[in-house]
Amino acid sequence: MKLSEVYEGWRNHILPPEKLEEVIRTVSTLRLDICSTCEWHSKFHDSKRSDNHCTKCGCTLIAKTKCLSCACPLKKWTHVKMDE
Ligand code: SF4
Repeated sequence: MKLSEVYEGWRNHILPPEKLEEVIRTVSTLRLDICSTCEWHSKFHDSKRSDNHCTKCGCTLIAKTKCLSCACPLKKWTHVKMDE
């Protein structure tokens, strides 16, 4: 995962651009549903971390799922193309 994608995910979690708020919320909800049943979700593994994260890529899911340009490392969900 690129640093720019980490930034995008956390920015969209903490301070989402107003015009993208709805799409970020919708996309994140759909992605979190997929992650919640995935065998790589941290809830299915012993982990010292308290956050829900992906044990495949290590990302915190509440932020990663809000990064519109990001994709699941196993392609269970993909990036969102946005018209500029
Ligand atoms: S990002 Fe992909 S591999 Fe990771 S928990 Fe979500 S669905 Fe599974």
